Amino acid sequence: MTKLYISADLEGACGVVSPHHCATTPDREAYDWAVSQLEMEVAAVVETALDHGASEIVINDSHCTMTNLTVERVDPRVSLLSGKPKRCAMSAGLDAGFDGAIYIGYHAKAGTHQGVLSHTFHSKLFDVSVNGVSYGEGGINALYASLEFGVPLILASGDRAFIEEIHQLSPDLPTVETKVGLTQTSALNHPLENVLEDYAAKTRQVLERQAQWSEHLLNLNGPYDLKVTFIDTLAADAANTIPGLTRLDGRTLQFKADRFQTIYQMLQTSYSILAYTHYLE
Ligand SMILES: [Zn+2]
Repeated sequence: MTKLYISADLEGACGVVSPHHCATTPDREAYDWAVSQLEMEVAAVVETALDHGASEIVINDSHCTMTNLTVERVDPRVSLLSGKPKRCAMSAGLDAGFDGAIYIGYHAKAGTHQGVLSHTFHSKLFDVSVNGVSYGEGGINALYASLEFGVPLILASGDRAFIEEIHQLSPDLPTVETKVGLTQTSALNHPLENVLEDYAAKTRQVLERQAQWSEHLLNLNGPYDLKVTFIDTLAADAANTIPGLTRLDGRTLQFKADRFQTIYQMLQTSYSILAYTHYLE
């Protein structure tokens, strides 16, 4: 019995380069196309994994509204976790019952040169660090999976900048590169046929080497020192209304905890609360 957890974002999918690809407005057609691209990439992983020993797969829709994928358009043999809010967001629903995690369509952290649509969880977040090391979404999610549940990240896909970022954390991780960023909103996309073949080949290789998955487990000893730096002081002011945070400077808040899950939840809270400042913009 091999149970897989897939977290599917959108910005890292092949061909996706514009903010218009990533939200239902202002260009519904562009968004629908981008989701159909993600569906193809998810299907390449799911079908191959089920053919090569996976017995159960849960897909967590991890992008924006988290209602991008739909039950009738993903493989009918998988369970789809849709919608938000949900605790630990892009890693919601993960537990120790899973054998491995796969991230599809991921992107580099905020501030990455040639990182396509790069950001870290929220447009108002500039940097997230834990114990002095800066991480993107892939890193935070992979650390959470390893440290809380002993679930290794076994395969990840996205643009070249994301692949380089995740390899800093997990050098031997199998990856699928979908495109090479020129700027924040442009990329040289790899031929789709090659990308889909690479998904199938890497998924097959990974499934055939399950005995080695534990080599991808990450270590980071607690206690954990989370620092969240926003792009402006207003965002930090809003997040500073949350009890238990320490204001380090105009844009940075700090939070310490013994469990990684606690800092993940505080991180999520710190940007979720920004929804209440939109009236100021
Ligand atoms: Zn996203």
